[in-house]
Amino acid sequence: RQNARESLYIILNFAKNYYQHQLHDSEEGQAIGLSYFRERGFTNEIRRKFELGYSLDVWDAFTKEALEKGYSAEILEKAGLLIHKEGSQSAGYDRFRGRVIFPIHNIAGKTIAFGARILKSDKNQPKYLNSPETEVYHKSEVLYGIYQAKNAIRQLEHCYLVEGYTDVISLHQAGIENVVASSGTSLTVEQIRLIGRFTPNVTILYDGDMAGIKAALRGLDLVLEEGLNVNVVLFPDNEDPDSYVRRVGAEAFKAHLKKASKDFITFKTEILLQDAGNDPFRLAAVIQEVVNSIVKIPDAIKRQVFFHRTSEMMRVDEQMLITEGNKLLRKQQ
Ligand code: ATP
Ligand code: MN
Ligand code: MN
Ligand code: MN
Repeated sequence: RQNARESLYIILNFAKNYYQHQLHDSEEGQAIGLSYFRERGFTNEIRRKFELGYSLDVWDAFTKEALEKGYSAEILEKAGLLIHKEGSQSAGYDRFRGRVIFPIHNIAGKTIAFGARILKSDKNQPKYLNSPETEVYHKSEVLYGIYQAKNAIRQLEHCYLVEGYTDVISLHQAGIENVVASSGTSLTVEQIRLIGRFTPNVTILYDGDMAGIKAALRGLDLVLEEGLNVNVVLFPDNEDPDSYVRRVGAEAFKAHLKKASKDFITFKTEILLQDAGNDPFRLAAVIQEVVNSIVKIPDAIKRQVFFHRTSEMMRVDEQMLITEGNKLLRKQQ
């Protein structure tokens, strides 16, 4: 088992170096991949830091190279790099072709998977392709950027959570290094616990679209349950941290983080209240929903603070919220 994993790390490291080499040294990589990253404003330094690469737009360029170097087709397939059709005569073809490559690292900095972005939008192909689950890559347990962020997270006692690869990279370039990405999936308990190993303080920077807001509302009770202190920052319509920081610059971006940051319970209460308007039945549902979230917080003092705060926001009696909350808490036990 240990050996099987070790040989996956070795082939994944080989692939990472290969894609990096193609990006910087091949004609196609320079003309297509490098100019793409440059257009996005990624410097040479940041490309090296995140070990970005490029996969040639050829069916089996990587596979050929790897087989020549003595790696077996079997291990390439196990690593998620080679797609082999059952019963087919051919060795198979490269999973990643004609895409820019974002290696995904574990906490120790080993490459465990890849995310790969198409260059021009194409309705017939997904924007991002990712490695499949393998023996060393369990998507639900991984946070993109944790290796590059961990020291800053510890030092600053704070972690920013974004949706995408490019958000992480652009924020690093802007000098914000305590940032990781959930990579588009809704947050899992494993990911939250991984953050919790480094700090209890998380600020969620989700995309400024309906999907981002809904994801923020949905996933986050889970974060409260794990005892983390959660804040939320929203971005203007159709912007994400990457596009926003590039548009306004690092200083204005940091100012926005300060100004627009709200604790999750306040954020959720505001959004729900807006949505409910003056309808008393919907208001009642909002109160219920907010109490539901507050009782997820393990710490009794923090709960008390939020009962008080939200009773003012919703203009209801604080004692009533506490009584409702206590009923739910008894049920939970
Ligand atoms: P870009 O700025 O390059 O368009 P993004 O990170 O802003 O990328 P989003 O559409 O906001 O892209 O998606 C957020 C994240 O979700 C991506 O970084 C990626 O990890 C994941 N993702 C997006 N689309 C797909 C897809 N089709 N398949 C798998 N994962 C995806
Ligand atoms: Mn989005
Ligand atoms: Mn983006
Ligand atoms: Mn985005």
